[in-house]
Amino acid sequence: MRKRAHINTMGCQMNVQDSGRMRDLLASMGYEPEENPHKADLVLVNTCMIREKAEEKAFSFLGRMAKIKRRRPHLLVCVAGCVSQAHGKAILKRAPYVDVVLGTGAVTRLPKLVEQRIATGLPALDTEMDQPGFGPLPGPRTGPTAFVTIMTGCDNFCSYCVVPHVRGREKSRPPDDVLAEVRVLAAQGVSEVTLLGQNVNSYGKKEGLCTFPELLEKVHAVDGIRRIRFVTSHPKDLSPELINAFSGLDKLCGHIHLPIQSGSDRILAAMNRKYTADAYMDKLSALRAARAGMAVTTDFIVGFPGETERDFEKTMDLVCSARFDGLFAFKYSDRPHAPASRLDDKVPEKEKARRLAAILDAANAIIQEKNQALAGSVLTVLVEGASKQAGNQATGRTSGNRVVNFEVPKGMENQLKAGAYVDVAIEKGHAHSLWGRVLPSGGGKKPWEMCHAA
Ligand code: SF4
Repeated sequence: MRKRAHINTMGCQMNVQDSGRMRDLLASMGYEPEENPHKADLVLVNTCMIREKAEEKAFSFLGRMAKIKRRRPHLLVCVAGCVSQAHGKAILKRAPYVDVVLGTGAVTRLPKLVEQRIATGLPALDTEMDQPGFGPLPGPRTGPTAFVTIMTGCDNFCSYCVVPHVRGREKSRPPDDVLAEVRVLAAQGVSEVTLLGQNVNSYGKKEGLCTFPELLEKVHAVDGIRRIRFVTSHPKDLSPELINAFSGLDKLCGHIHLPIQSGSDRILAAMNRKYTADAYMDKLSALRAARAGMAVTTDFIVGFPGETERDFEKTMDLVCSARFDGLFAFKYSDRPHAPASRLDDKVPEKEKARRLAAILDAANAIIQEKNQALAGSVLTVLVEGASKQAGNQATGRTSGNRVVNFEVPKGMENQLKAGAYVDVAIEKGHAHSLWGRVLPSGGGKKPWEMCHAA
């Protein structure tokens, strides 16, 4: 009997990676991927609870699966990810139609849990956090880019964050395993890899493995890889060696995502971020000095408990002086287990919304200005595929992680497929993307020269 599995992935790239592994494990049990949950025999939702909204989204999805299950009683409903890890057994009480609950540490045990559910007829539960190793190499990937997990968990315990409580302690993957996966990917035609972890800057410290900059050098030496990215970095662990890597390693893309969260030292201390706004700005200047056209993006949380108008002004001042190339901002929300949830002096929702709008308006104006300033330049783009805008357009990213859309000239369709590196003359900068015109192939640049411009 054909068995079909539908996977719904919510949240971060770490969840996307885990969903890929669960898809491979279900395939090994004979489940084929199914886009439509109404046609599936098994539905798995991989959940996120970084904010209240994300958590609610998981439960409303489960509510919809309950309706389907009333019509298809054999449907197996599985819940994975951070909501599972945080709530575990309580999910079975709130959603008694759920069949399998597996935490962030139990990904590789999914087949055993599904078999247990089928054999016993009783719900299967596993929120044991620690799992040995990082599991088998993921199955084949399609497309020119891929994420490679280099570590899991986090030891930073920022006071607003649930991650350390649902993803466990930092654990780094042996460099040989990472390199084995990168080589397999290169052999599959992947030319850009993104090294993934909650805080990649502290890679290998606990296990006495090589440092993160040393790991970057090893990945840099892999044939077939032309671009390297990484996410996410904690500013306190951004070392001079890592900053120097941006001027030393040609394949390392000119972009870093470096969440700052607030411009007020008083709030940074209450968040347990372990750096000051000035220290952050010094590292920002050092990064921009290390690499021409270096793009820096960041995250902010507005409305942290106790955040005064004066604190928020400091955040706005920093946004204007730092002039980020991209910015994500979020309203603070209490998270289970996170110490900040026990703080008084909560900022009213209306005020949080006002601050969120203000910071996004200010940041987007700067980002558009910087994108517009790129008009007239030539940027190298890794084509990712057809643009959603129009049929004869394609899209891709620069080394600075900017999205570029461009028209595909007649007769060049084959050359401009996903995976091609092309030089694009930028004609216009928009709020969150660039528009340009393709130049004749490569403009004579060598592959490693195609990674330097913004
Ligand atoms: S560094 Fe802080 S914000 Fe990031 S995952 Fe760890 S605890 Fe959470």
